[in-house]
Amino acid sequence: MKTATDHPAKAEALEFVDRNRGALSTLSDSIFYFGELGMQEHRTSALMESLLEEQGFKLERGISGFPTAFLATWGRGEPVIAMHTEYDANPSNSQKSGVAEKAEIVPGAPGHCEGHNVNAAVLVTAAIATKRAIEKHGFGGTLKVFGAPAEEQLLSRPYFVRDGYFDDVDVSFHDHIYDEFKTDYGLMQSAMVSAAFHFAGESAHAAMWPWKARDALDAVVLMDMGVAQYREHFQPGMTAHRVITNGGEQPNVIPAKTSVWWYFRHPTSEGARQLFDQAKRIAEGAAMMANCTFSVDVLAAVWPVRGNRTMAEVIQANIETIGMPAWTEDENAFAKALQAKADVPEIGLRPALTPLTGPSIQIAASNDSGDVSWKVPMARVWFPSNIPHIAYHHWTGGAALASTIAHKGGWVGAKALAMSAIDFFVDPSLAKAANATFKEEIGDAKYRPLLPADQQPPIALNRETMEYYRPLMEPHYIQELPQYS
Ligand SMILES: [Zn+2]
Repeated sequence: MKTATDHPAKAEALEFVDRNRGALSTLSDSIFYFGELGMQEHRTSALMESLLEEQGFKLERGISGFPTAFLATWGRGEPVIAMHTEYDANPSNSQKSGVAEKAEIVPGAPGHCEGHNVNAAVLVTAAIATKRAIEKHGFGGTLKVFGAPAEEQLLSRPYFVRDGYFDDVDVSFHDHIYDEFKTDYGLMQSAMVSAAFHFAGESAHAAMWPWKARDALDAVVLMDMGVAQYREHFQPGMTAHRVITNGGEQPNVIPAKTSVWWYFRHPTSEGARQLFDQAKRIAEGAAMMANCTFSVDVLAAVWPVRGNRTMAEVIQANIETIGMPAWTEDENAFAKALQAKADVPEIGLRPALTPLTGPSIQIAASNDSGDVSWKVPMARVWFPSNIPHIAYHHWTGGAALASTIAHKGGWVGAKALAMSAIDFFVDPSLAKAANATFKEEIGDAKYRPLLPADQQPPIALNRETMEYYRPLMEPHYIQELPQYS
């Protein structure tokens, strides 16, 4: 793919990111210490919004009924280029950055243990860099920057698509942390339905009158057994996992109300839908056996993520221009210490970027950007801010996230995202080319949302946990504000 790599607007963006390395790092670290769970990213989104607003973006806060979502728009007319990412943390993963052993900042508190804090800083920095460059060089077109809450619960972007926010978008970029500097195309991740099953029965004293009860916990257990039996008949690539979110209160009170929260996945949206339908039949059977009733609440439902080849080629050309960060001996030593602790190969940090070799291998995990990727051409910038082979959603996944490793990966990530977006402003034929390959890639598939049409965002999700921990986390916040110049 030939791109306008030497266009002065792109040089401008590179200079902007270099000049604002400190701002990107401060923003990334600020969000790391906020450590806010999905749907409760109030400090995080407010900071991102104010930084974009200061730079002249028009802000729509709380889009699609998500209090911590936003759309920041700059410019007018075509092409319409979108960027989006997530910024939520995970439960129980508070971890001091730069420490190669388990060391909580606040015991039991949520924390970033994958790196969505860096995703957010890359997005904001790249958006400002892009806006400045296209403004200065007089290009037309619209830049739409989406803040997407609660990715860990696969929540927000299917709502944005459903509510029409991507109707006018020509191409869309997603940025995400990794240990490699790369992009990819083809089917990358799986479809998923996230649903809570609520069972209702009748309470009674468990020792005195158990025959008077209708045990709602029995229904949860029976549903578990039903899904376990059904596993033998799963299609390849189907997975199902659950947590019991309400199993009752104390043993001598037979629970009248219980809830179990399931994720159902498959490489195709149709497969995820079929598994969910079977799970509803199993739940119905379980409720019947326990003399209970049940209801289902779909919390999230996403299509598998796909990447567009034309866009990936544009991103790759820019990644190759930028190159991998130069890691110091100390950074490599820290990576190796963490790898030793995690009992994985002690290879340190990646010395080289990853070539674009062919279609991606589809993995079992999901991301709520999936629906966007079937609506419009989408590609992802993976930037090298974390450590090879360590596990995300584990304390080791958080140990580098406010270190120079995270910062340096973020700087190159922001450059790649801004330069690639600018390519599409400089040469509007690229958007047409991306849409042409997108049509070939999609083929006969008809995008039909998995998300129920009347579904509302679960705005109370994680509220209590975050309200409990936020005052304990506040003393660790960074006082300095990111300043873009
Ligand atoms: Zn993620």
